[in-house]
Amino acid sequence: MGLSVLKFGGTSVASPDLMLAAARRVADLRRQARGVAVVVSAMGHTTDELLELADAINPHPPRRETDMLLATGEQVSIALLAMALHSLGIPATSMTGPQVAIRTTASHTRARIRSIDTARLLAELNAGRVVVVAGFQGVTDDGQITTLGRGGSDTTAVALAAALAADVCEIFTDVDGVYTADPRLVPDARKLERISYDEMLELAVLGAGVMHSRAVQFGQRYNVPIHVRHSRKNDAGTLITRESPEMENASVVGCALKENLGRVSLRDLPNKPGVDAAIFNALAEADINVDDIIQNEASGGGMNISFTVEHRDLADIKPAMERVLAECGRGEQLIDVGLSRVSVVGLGMRHHTGVAAKMFTALADAGINIFNITTSEIKISCIINRSDGEKALKAVHAAFDLADGQPTTIDTLTPMRSVRV
Ligand code: ADP
Ligand code: ASP
Ligand code: MG
Repeated sequence: MGLSVLKFGGTSVASPDLMLAAARRVADLRRQARGVAVVVSAMGHTTDELLELADAINPHPPRRETDMLLATGEQVSIALLAMALHSLGIPATSMTGPQVAIRTTASHTRARIRSIDTARLLAELNAGRVVVVAGFQGVTDDGQITTLGRGGSDTTAVALAAALAADVCEIFTDVDGVYTADPRLVPDARKLERISYDEMLELAVLGAGVMHSRAVQFGQRYNVPIHVRHSRKNDAGTLITRESPEMENASVVGCALKENLGRVSLRDLPNKPGVDAAIFNALAEADINVDDIIQNEASGGGMNISFTVEHRDLADIKPAMERVLAECGRGEQLIDVGLSRVSVVGLGMRHHTGVAAKMFTALADAGINIFNITTSEIKISCIINRSDGEKALKAVHAAFDLADGQPTTIDTLTPMRSVRV
């Protein structure tokens, strides 16, 4: 076997014992591979704790300083994992994102990887050392430390696997693989043996936090097989790979819930060419993704537009939209919070009819109101009240018979999610 890239998430290195267990796992896998690069996340809830610390000092810190702070979490982990490997007699070198030269865009807290310099990594690997790389962080061309967005260590790992032409990227986490729904919310969710990049990408974008969506994009673009598996079990997990005939042919392979969404409504804008362009250029400049866009004519001849965004982006959107309104010379901005999106995903949807009807019926039977619907070839999403989220996910999961009847067991480090608007 050639090179392997392994990634350990925060729960899998949350204590010294777990860190040593991860090191033993690396040692085992190193015997089978020509070289091993390990990507590691910050320990346990470190990133949340660092954000809380920042919040206590300044509720709206500059994003550059947030990155400076958050990058420390992964730096602690790489040093400790390298020490753990040394304690097992395995030569290892820890490297931060800037030391590797993981170059990113300058968009602090949501930067994108542009290139990875493999020279230093290969020098270490060729010298027989394990390289332990800090996930989630990179550096801009002018030397600023950046982070890749929450959950971004997956992306570091898959991008590294692509750059090193590794045989596989193993994502070690606290669940047995990718399930038909988040097993914390739907206890009878079923583990999938395989899933296509396209389906995993949709699920990740739509809220399946088990993989960072950009990691799946890298995997697909560079054809890196991604194996998601439990960090303390030897069982095979889920292989994320190209679509193949033996994949499940069901119309829906999984469902997901995305919480903490808000809706931005811009009312009574001028109804003339260039207004949409101004709005979406401003959002693109701030590197903000929006969805569920609805536009219609306002009663007085102007136009209204609304779109859904993540709560955490609202602080950047508000001033950007105020600038657009000022340029337009008219209009007002309204913000609603407390929304969620429930979605179903499956390549088989391309050939099955009635999927939308089944989803809407399941939500109606559960007494859940739908505010907006978006579809693509392989997904259907509904915006609902946040308070209906779990009920909606369970209803949809049951309607498409995704369960296997065996409740799933998962590790119990409850996720902490801080929302900052
Ligand atoms: P790590 O720290 O290892 O990166 P994460 O917390 O980011 O771990 O991702 C693992 C978690 O993803 C699981 O504990 C689970 O609650 C959640 N999750 C959400 N959707 C899914 C899904 N479809 N399949 C498996 N896990 C999921
Ligand atoms: N430590 C970062 C986070 O908590 C990155 C990661 O875990 O992937 O989001
Ligand atoms: Mg993760």
